[in-house]
Amino acid sequence: MSNYYIWTIGCQMNVADSQRLGSALEQLGYDRVATAEDADIVILNSCVVRQGAEDKVVARLDSLKGLKGATNDVTIALTGCMVGPQVEHLKDRFSHVDFFIRPQEITALVEFAADRQGLACDVDQMLLVASRPQVSTFIPVIQGCDEFCTYCIVPYRRGRESSRPLNEIVGETEELVDRGVVEVTLLGQIVDKYGHDLPGDFDLADLLSAVNDVQGIERIRFLTSHPRDMSDRILRAVADLPKVVEHLNVPFQSGDDGVLERMRRPYAITEYFDLIERARTYVPGVALATDVIVGFCGETEEEFQRTVGVLERVRFDTVHIAAYSTRSGTIADRKIADDVPPGVKLERKNIVESLQERIATEVNMPLLGNRVEVLVERKVRGRWEGRTRTNKLVHFEDPGEADRVGSLMEVDIARTSPWSLTGTLPGYGYTESEPTEAITLVPVGGP
Ligand code: SF4
Repeated sequence: MSNYYIWTIGCQMNVADSQRLGSALEQLGYDRVATAEDADIVILNSCVVRQGAEDKVVARLDSLKGLKGATNDVTIALTGCMVGPQVEHLKDRFSHVDFFIRPQEITALVEFAADRQGLACDVDQMLLVASRPQVSTFIPVIQGCDEFCTYCIVPYRRGRESSRPLNEIVGETEELVDRGVVEVTLLGQIVDKYGHDLPGDFDLADLLSAVNDVQGIERIRFLTSHPRDMSDRILRAVADLPKVVEHLNVPFQSGDDGVLERMRRPYAITEYFDLIERARTYVPGVALATDVIVGFCGETEEEFQRTVGVLERVRFDTVHIAAYSTRSGTIADRKIADDVPPGVKLERKNIVESLQERIATEVNMPLLGNRVEVLVERKVRGRWEGRTRTNKLVHFEDPGEADRVGSLMEVDIARTSPWSLTGTLPGYGYTESEPTEAITLVPVGGP
């Protein structure tokens, strides 16, 4: 029996890649194990979008040095966004790693794993569907990015945009339903560009419609969207298709046109406001998430205040905030001075976090006393946890013994906070208990 271990850090795309890789290895007879020490193949799926993530990958890689004992029979592979076209520097630094595989080339690792088992395999014919998926699961629909925002390393690591055929995605959704999945999130670095590189004339709206027709799927999400590519056609699909939820993630990154230009973001902030208005017109009550970078090269106090102004004006449900850090190899790294002092970046990040805490408190407060539909994902410390269609995290207690995972439950909201909601099943009273809320700040990995 052969075993594999996968450690994953970073965005949802990395999570989806790891699931697909795991599925392939299991089809080749490998069992997943919980520790690297028990594995024959150890895979680290890395992220370098932020310095903090890269530091964790380096620490994890260093911790694996001891695995290469006298027999040297464990194979260590590094994939994800740390691996670019040039790997010589990685080979020098991490000589105990056997394979450095770019995210779009993970089939090379599958072929090695098959060979190690003495099996022939055609990766194109394998069904790379998560073998033990969560009730809410990711499906990559378009890989790569052609944009080259000046701060971003992703296009150098994930390559050019490439959409998967629509029928392949529908087939994967059907397979996931058979494995208990109730909600899918269609993923792309720029998901609203889906289809532009495929023959024929169709787009994300057509894909949403096709997935909406899959029996057994209850909810459909998609992320991350680029403001420029969020067409009226896509917004209409969100409004009209019953399974597509009322939640959009559209990063604006900065509220200042000069900063947007330095970031190579192809829109003015007035166009972003126009998009928000269109979204709220087509989809009343839509929940909005965004990504913001503070302290980008040359950002003045005035420019930063424009970002604050956007947050005040739009009043997002969720904001993923990052203080800018230079990523080696990006356009900004080569051409623009990273001249905002670290203390100022931190201060601006703190200002945005405090502001968003207040706004999210106010946005969630009206939900008190409302009945919401929750897709239950798991049980945490005795309470069920799930999400509303608008992606609000909800905790509730259920005196019954039934396993609620995968169920759509009606929950009465009895307590709100900026980060989560707490409720009860209809007909049951609410008892105050230890809150489990936490702030989750997701690294910027999309548009
Ligand atoms: S921020 Fe998004 S759109 Fe810009 S280069 Fe990175 S992945 Fe592409």
